[in-house]
Amino acid sequence: MSTSKCPGCQRSDIRKLDGQRAVCKSCSKAKRCVFQFCLACQREWPHNASTTSSCMLPNCALRAVLLSVTKISDPQSSVNGCPYFRACPGCQSLLTHNGEGCPNIICPDCDKEFCFRCLRPECFDNEYYNEYYGDDNGEDDDYDDDDDDDDTETEPCVIVDNAEILKDL
Ligand SMILES: [Zn+2]
Ligand SMILES: [Zn+2]
Ligand SMILES: [Zn+2]
Ligand SMILES: [Zn+2]
Repeated sequence: MSTSKCPGCQRSDIRKLDGQRAVCKSCSKAKRCVFQFCLACQREWPHNASTTSSCMLPNCALRAVLLSVTKISDPQSSVNGCPYFRACPGCQSLLTHNGEGCPNIICPDCDKEFCFRCLRPECFDNEYYNEYYGDDNGEDDDYDDDDDDDDTETEPCVIVDNAEILKDL
């Protein structure tokens, strides 16, 4: 399992029930009702779920894969440090990068091109390789991508996580 934290309080003080179901004590206390959630897709367990083994919510499996902490680890690759899987910004197909060439990939399903690192549709950061070889540490975990201004000036290509994609699923 990729993660076993409560999506409500981000604590790992949870109890696994059957299947993908788990219950969080502190959230249950706070909400004054039992807070159950799906371990796979990190959403509240639907109260009308007909089964206890799967939450049956749309995109459960897709979200589970995107939530995975697995990262590409290949120092030679332009996508080193990126999450292993991305969902296409166009059609939400699950995609991965073969690690070769530039970070841009084209979705085989909808032909949308995007940068595997920063997820922008047009990122032609030709300085990338120079930048990379001058810096041993490609980690950029604490990058805060909250402000979304529409400036046309070139922003650096920074690896983002799948949080933006997951919001829309
Ligand atoms: Zn909780
Ligand atoms: Zn689920
Ligand atoms: Zn696509
Ligand atoms: Zn980029």
